[in-house]
Amino acid sequence: MAHEKLNIVGIPIDNLERDMFLKLVYQELDRKQKNVFIVTANPEIIMNAKNSPSYREALLQADYIIPDGFGVIKASNILGKPLQEKITGYDLVHTFLAYASEKRKSVYFFGAKEGIALEAINRAKELYPNLIVAGSKHGYSGLTQDIAEEIASAKPDFVFVGLGAPMQEKWIASYRHLFPHSVLMGVGGSFDVLSGNVKRAPQFWLDRNLEWFHRLITQPTRGKRMLKLPIFVAEVYKQKWTSRK
Ligand code: UDP
Repeated sequence: MAHEKLNIVGIPIDNLERDMFLKLVYQELDRKQKNVFIVTANPEIIMNAKNSPSYREALLQADYIIPDGFGVIKASNILGKPLQEKITGYDLVHTFLAYASEKRKSVYFFGAKEGIALEAINRAKELYPNLIVAGSKHGYSGLTQDIAEEIASAKPDFVFVGLGAPMQEKWIASYRHLFPHSVLMGVGGSFDVLSGNVKRAPQFWLDRNLEWFHRLITQPTRGKRMLKLPIFVAEVYKQKWTSRK
C-alpha cells in the first residue's frame, strides 16, 4: 500500500504511524521476498545528503526513511505538512530486538569500537533472553566485500549497522544485495548506548526534545556537527518560501 512521503530538503520522509510502519516491515520479513533498508533520518543526515550526491543516492535506495527525532518533525510543521509520528532510531532498535526475541528472528550487530558490539549483544541478551544472535563485528576492521560476505553468511534477519552516517547507509546500499531477506538499518552510536559506554539523556531531557542539548554538554566534541542544525532550519524555511512562489 502506497503511503504519503514528505520532501524535506530533498529527502522523501515517510509519513507513517509507528504501528503501521512496524506492520509493513514485519510483513516483509515474513514474506521473505526482498530485503528492507531503513534510514532513520535526522537533520544531520539530511544536511549530509544535501552536500553529498553519492550519500543522497544511497539514501534514496532505502525502502523507508523515517523521521528520527524532533528536528525532522519540527521541519514538517514549518512546511505546513506535519508528519504523523516521530520514530526514534534507538527506540526502534529496542522494538526490533524485542520482536526478534519473541518471534525467534536472528540479529547481527556490526559497528562500534572493538568489544563494544559484543558488550551490546550481551546486554541485549539480558534484556531480551530469547534473542538469537547471528553474530557481531566491530566497525574498524575495514569495509571490504569480504567482511560484508562474512556477515551475510550468518543469514541474520536483522542487521544493525552502527558505523555512523554517512558510512552506515553507504555500506547498506552497497551490500544489501548480499542479504536477500534481511531488515538492514543504520543505528549510529546505538551500540555505545546499549553497552552502557555512552549514557543516553535522562527522560527529563528526552521529554522536552532536548536530547541534542544534553549530547552537546556531555560530548562537547560533537559541537561542530551540531552547527548543521541551524543551517537545516534555514534550508527548511527556504524550501517553504520557494514552494509558495
Ligand atoms: N564507527 C565505526 N567505524 C568507523 C567510524 C565510526 O564503527 O570507522 C562507529 C563509532 O564507534 C560509533 C558509531 O560508529 O559507535 C557512530 O556513532 P555516532 O555517535 O557518531 O552516531 P550517531 O548516533 O550520532 O548517528
